[in-house]
Amino acid sequence: MHGHISPFWKDVLSILDPNSVIGLVLRENIKFKIGDGSSILFWSDVWIGSNALRSIFPRLYQNSTFRNGLVNEMGQWVNDQWRWNLVWRRNLLSYEEQQYHHLLSMLAPTKIQQGRDDKLIWPCNSDGSFSVKSCCTLIDNTFSANDRVFEANVWIKGAPPKVQVFLWLAVQDKVSTRAFLHQRTVLSATQASCVFCNSDLETSEHLFIHCNFSRSVWMKVLDWWGIQYCLLKTLDSLLLQWPEMVHGKFQRSAWRLISSSTIWGIWLLRNKIVFEEGTINLFDCFSIILHRVAIWLHTQDSNFTYTGNDLLRSSDGIKLWCNKKS
Ligand SMILES: [Zn+2]
Repeated sequence: MHGHISPFWKDVLSILDPNSVIGLVLRENIKFKIGDGSSILFWSDVWIGSNALRSIFPRLYQNSTFRNGLVNEMGQWVNDQWRWNLVWRRNLLSYEEQQYHHLLSMLAPTKIQQGRDDKLIWPCNSDGSFSVKSCCTLIDNTFSANDRVFEANVWIKGAPPKVQVFLWLAVQDKVSTRAFLHQRTVLSATQASCVFCNSDLETSEHLFIHCNFSRSVWMKVLDWWGIQYCLLKTLDSLLLQWPEMVHGKFQRSAWRLISSSTIWGIWLLRNKIVFEEGTINLFDCFSIILHRVAIWLHTQDSNFTYTGNDLLRSSDGIKLWCNKKS
């Protein structure tokens, strides 16, 4: 099917969203292997040669009517033959014509293939395959992060890559909270307070742990599992201590997924309030967290057949499943 993107690839691409600062910077460091061209930015991504076409042909780029176009939007299929069709703002000058011919000769050998996904070639993995860890290394290198070593607890089997990368950014206070945007002068100080409580500065730590609303979400999750627990001060210490609260390999692994889903659930609700005028609702947030856990566990093991609604009734299903596996 033309333009088909696998869920995994879609997920990876959402990290590389060209509309986000992180996505744009990462894309400059990543090479693409052309498939159907539906995920590659024609001018800005590195997909032929070792530089973006934008930097090889700056004049042509300036003159393009479609600077943010994807590869598959820069031409069309005619009788199963791909034809390039670049459109210019004005007629090309003669030296630009020469560059254009050069560009066309570069494009000529590329094989655009209908129905085949574009692929990422990661600079960090020797075989060029994607991994969450290499993606985060790239983020760290790109943003010259501190020397913090990878905490094993961010890597969670079963959680989608974008969630794992998000956790990694959250632990380092690099997600686009209002405090983060204020630091980068995108928002003023008066616009930087927490979406939920509207009183404290919206840092990662506040948003995910200290805010009264978030605290009540964590309490509800702990209560549901049957744990009485006092929350920790920082996000990374929380993630570190979290698995120690339960016993057994499979319980730990499921329990860690629950912490990821909780952080992710808080973030999605926060965004819903910011961008879609959503409202604070503890039960809805909790319910979404468990529904997502059910999906993730099922993805990991198709024998996990409990639904989000089953989990909402009690945590027994997960515990039974874990005990059966161990
Ligand atoms: Zn708050």
